[in-house]
Amino acid sequence: MKLDRFPRVRLGTWPTPLEEAPRLSDALGTTVLLKRDDVNGLGVGGNKLRKLEFLLGRALADGADTVLTFGALQTNHGRQTAAACAKLGLRCELVLTAKVPRDGEAYERSGNIILDHLFGANVHRCADEVETGATYDRLVAEAAAEGRKVATLPVGGSDEVGLLGYVAAAAEIREQLDGRHARILVPQGSGGTAAGLALGWAGRLDIACVGHSAAESGETLSTLVDAGARHLGIEPPALDHVRITDRTLGPGYGVPTDEVWEALRLFGRTEGVVLDPVYTGKTAAALLAEPRPEEGPVVFWHTGGLPGVFGYGPEALTAVS
Ligand SMILES: *Cc1c(COP(=O)(O)O)cnc(C)c1O
Repeated sequence: MKLDRFPRVRLGTWPTPLEEAPRLSDALGTTVLLKRDDVNGLGVGGNKLRKLEFLLGRALADGADTVLTFGALQTNHGRQTAAACAKLGLRCELVLTAKVPRDGEAYERSGNIILDHLFGANVHRCADEVETGATYDRLVAEAAAEGRKVATLPVGGSDEVGLLGYVAAAAEIREQLDGRHARILVPQGSGGTAAGLALGWAGRLDIACVGHSAAESGETLSTLVDAGARHLGIEPPALDHVRITDRTLGPGYGVPTDEVWEALRLFGRTEGVVLDPVYTGKTAAALLAEPRPEEGPVVFWHTGGLPGVFGYGPEALTAVS
């Protein structure tokens, strides 16, 4: 799949490490490799950088000077977009909606929110979808009045352009594995990460849902895979190699369970690796629940999210102690 015909701007440090995790593997009774997209460089890192390389590459090619995107209050996507815009000298508008049933000092005033401001983004907090829509309309009208050109990025950067970052990532890990057999385990939120991997990786792909049921996530995945395949000019693959679980989703997006905190403790205490309570913690909980040693090594795709730990401050302290 030729990706060099799509505009791209370099934001991260590639390839990200693929690390052995011997103490974690011992604890789980199965061989785990860690794919460290949490340490890819810019703005504290995370999976959105791979998508933003293509999304902002296109925005620059289109002559945009303002980038607008959406998310929850503790969005990692928004924070990485803000960091990328700082680096590229673009104006960044973050329209954040209170969609997670949480409040409190830490959630509202720590974690990613601090970094959004640090990177110079204009942060607009909205109580609900109605306010979000009205804020979007106002920002677009203001930009038009000032003669600025806006690039609007979808939630999570998940569309047929953003997912190209994970088509490229699939090629990267194939090279790192160098013929070794493995399955990949990755979270699915907005879906672009899993969809890009589903397009680029033909081996077993396990997906852990962090926001929606397995049925809903499967629909989102196939819609994105189809759009990605059209964009790439290839036949959409049958998704026989994909297995989706929602057994560790718990009460919903952004709500960590005991199993999630247990996974954070295990990764922290065996490998000194920090998971987050929203995405990677739920995915690791799925690995703890079903390590599947009979299927050989598993690549745990660490998608980042570190600042989220601080967004869950007091609860996180109790839970990891
Ligand atoms: C956004 C995010 C995900 C989910 O990726 P999608 O492409 O939205 O499915 C996983 N982990 C972290 C840390 C994220 O910020």
